[in-house]
Amino acid sequence: MAEVDYHPMWESLGMDVEAHDGLLAAVGQMFQDSFLVQENRPASTDYLDSVVANIHSGRIQEMLDQKEAGTATKIVGSFCLYVPEEVIMAARGISVGLCSGADWATDKVEKHIPHNTCPLIKSFNGFKLGRVCPYIESSDLVVGENTCDGKKKAYEFFGTQKPMHIMDVPNVKTDTALASYREQVRLLAQRVEQETGVKITEEGLRAAIRLVNEKRRALQRLSATRAADPAPISGLDCLLTVQAAFMDDPVRLTAAINAMADECERRVRDGVGVAPKGTKRVLYTGTPMPVPFWKLFTLIEQAGAVVVGEECCTGSRYYKDLVDESGETVDEMLDRIAERYYDINCAIFTPNEGRMKDVIGMAKNLHADGIVDCSLQFCTLYDMESFTMRKAAEEAGIPYMHISTDYSNEDTGQLTTRIQAFIEMI
Ligand code: SF4
Ligand code: SF4
Repeated sequence: MAEVDYHPMWESLGMDVEAHDGLLAAVGQMFQDSFLVQENRPASTDYLDSVVANIHSGRIQEMLDQKEAGTATKIVGSFCLYVPEEVIMAARGISVGLCSGADWATDKVEKHIPHNTCPLIKSFNGFKLGRVCPYIESSDLVVGENTCDGKKKAYEFFGTQKPMHIMDVPNVKTDTALASYREQVRLLAQRVEQETGVKITEEGLRAAIRLVNEKRRALQRLSATRAADPAPISGLDCLLTVQAAFMDDPVRLTAAINAMADECERRVRDGVGVAPKGTKRVLYTGTPMPVPFWKLFTLIEQAGAVVVGEECCTGSRYYKDLVDESGETVDEMLDRIAERYYDINCAIFTPNEGRMKDVIGMAKNLHADGIVDCSLQFCTLYDMESFTMRKAAEEAGIPYMHISTDYSNEDTGQLTTRIQAFIEMI
């Protein structure tokens, strides 16, 4: 089949196509060095390879075609798990994640945002200022959220670049805070209705809740197989399933993840692993890992361990809880959505003991030998919480290691040494 040239599409989105070619080449190389060198991958991970091959090309064209054909209304981007995708889908919008995991146009970014800001925040601003992200460029609306200080202040600048709606997310878990978050979910629904011109109906919202729950069920199935020794699939591939869940078509993704879960269940029955039985098992917790930030998982797995779970927004927080499907009216369904999302245990909440319980529970259920907790540099929230996390791990008798890193490769040598020492010790 003749290869499609996507340059006209990228140009039509106003992108810097030359710089973007450079970014795609770099991401392709990273994918090769991290994923394609793995041995004994389940055959069904070829889906993940196709996601990466199409991530800035075929998938973008597909979304634009759906809009053109009227099967989708608008593309709505967001940066955080507290933005419920069901609400966007109920108005036939396409929900996409905009977090990015590579340094870009840093000189331009630092004209608007301090140097010592978390790399995730600098990255999405750099992708915008450098015009290299087709998800940002094709988004008709971007939903931000008042979560960490860095993001909420950075949105003041990002809002000068794209039309935005900001959700106010509470930082304590009380009845009053839940009531205010419910209201925020309603305000999001109103804004999505205005933007798309589509009234959110019971039928539309119910279908969206079921669709996203199906996606979560598939990810739960896959995750459960990782309790086995040998682990049937690598942490890198599982990380990519959740990264893909923020970008790919939900029906296609759900079918592909179910196929991966089928294959991994067979592998568990047959004692087939991605690494030999007895390989040291690591549970990851910490800040999110957006595409193409695969550095840490690559270092852990290339050092001879296997990551068996991820307690983070690009991991279990995304799929572990379903939205209760019993709501009948739109209001009831919005409330059930709000309750499900409000239960996410992010470090923006204080106190955040639920996260410690989640991590220790996952470490036990997945038979992890150790916990690696990572905060992106200058992320005060996750850095501060690492002390509570260390204490919880010590009390549970599980070896623990904290890492602070960024998107560069400057610390690769030092991290490799620390990770190898940790794996030998556990
Ligand atoms: S870590 Fe917290 S603020 Fe960041 S995406 Fe997750 S829920 Fe949102
Ligand atoms: S990693 Fe931390 S500082 Fe960065 S966006 Fe997430 S919560 Fe904010």
